[in-house]
Amino acid sequence: MNVLVLNCGSSSIKYQFINPGEGQTLARGVIDRIGMMGAVLTHTRHDGHTIKLSGEILDHTMGIEYVLAVLLSPNHGVIKDKSEIHAVGHRVVHGGETFSNSVLITPEVMQVLRDNIELAPLHNPHNIRGIKACEKHLPDVPQVAVFDTAFHQKMPKHVYLYGLPFVLYKRYKIRRYGFHGTSHRYVSDRAAQLMNKPLESLRIITCHLGNGCSMAAIKGGRSIDTSMGFTPLEGLLMGTRSGDLDPSIILYIMGKEGLALSEATTLLNKHSGMLGVSGESSDMREIEQAVAEGNPKAKTAFTMFCYRIKKYIGAYASAMGGLDTVVFTGGIGENSSRVRSEVLSDMTFLGIHLDDHKNSSGEGAREITKDDSPVKVLVIPTNEELVIARDTERIVTEDNA
Ligand code: ADP
Repeated sequence: MNVLVLNCGSSSIKYQFINPGEGQTLARGVIDRIGMMGAVLTHTRHDGHTIKLSGEILDHTMGIEYVLAVLLSPNHGVIKDKSEIHAVGHRVVHGGETFSNSVLITPEVMQVLRDNIELAPLHNPHNIRGIKACEKHLPDVPQVAVFDTAFHQKMPKHVYLYGLPFVLYKRYKIRRYGFHGTSHRYVSDRAAQLMNKPLESLRIITCHLGNGCSMAAIKGGRSIDTSMGFTPLEGLLMGTRSGDLDPSIILYIMGKEGLALSEATTLLNKHSGMLGVSGESSDMREIEQAVAEGNPKAKTAFTMFCYRIKKYIGAYASAMGGLDTVVFTGGIGENSSRVRSEVLSDMTFLGIHLDDHKNSSGEGAREITKDDSPVKVLVIPTNEELVIARDTERIVTEDNA
């Protein structure tokens, strides 16, 4: 089966065309600047052939038309006919409390997605637009939604509730949802495979460190706690998001600076985190460069970033009654040996014995602890698209059975 995997953002569509059975990505690409002047489509075929096309792409419907055109193109494409697209899998950010698994998209599911817009106003509307665009251009092709929140839906109540009047949970569904679930699920599965142990027997902490960052405590294959909350703002220090802070600070700043709600939201989501602290950049490569040049604010941002991860490792080891494995993934987790060594320094008390040579060399999925380290640390490149393609294939096949 060939699955078109789509991740529709406000002004972008990322796509991969995958044969999940063979685990092969036939083509991948991204359209940026949808709805703006000079949209650009970058498309790469499995043989490495890459093209860039620019034009006016007004909306997601037009964007999907471009994606299909390039997949079908005799010079750049990988298929001859639309009928070779057997299913579409969408990354959907928020499944609310309704979805703890991926689902076939039906009119009822679409209604729930619309109902969840209030919970994810920055994401779900674009996901819905992408689904609608596929309904138009691929009317007979089944579509599946794979939710960022689903993997965390089985967290216990004492973990997902906040210390607020219970009526607010009942009225507005204010609770911890958690995000990056597809990535946490994928890397924890891979960790069990790499360790050659049943997932059910393991206590794993997964650290997804990209532009957005979150951690999860995964016990017996289930996410029992995660650092992002009602929105992706909570938890770790991120590129531009503050992560954990005293909620009173927001009210205080709003009063002092006369900020409107939307301005406070922008402050916390776009101007905070490593960017806000360093005043330099939200990008870890640039932060590391600035640290190397002796920039003290960048050094503080780097240390804060790593310290929070260290703190959550301690918390989650406690929550799980022990620890077998820590996994690093995402652009920073996979590539920054400096972040990993800072996070894991002085952790032998927990059974983590980092091997400096393994940490700073090698690539791909690998172990970076000493052979006799009681707790293993793994670096595992995430592959959310493959999970989406596999879920889509399974659900479409079950539906046809
Ligand atoms: P997204 O969350 O948008 O998918 P990524 O997972 O690609 O983002 O992560 C982007 C982050 O990874 C950026 O902060 C970038 O600087 C960082 N990164 C990528 N490569 C390296 C590297 N070699 N060393 C340190 N940080 C890196």
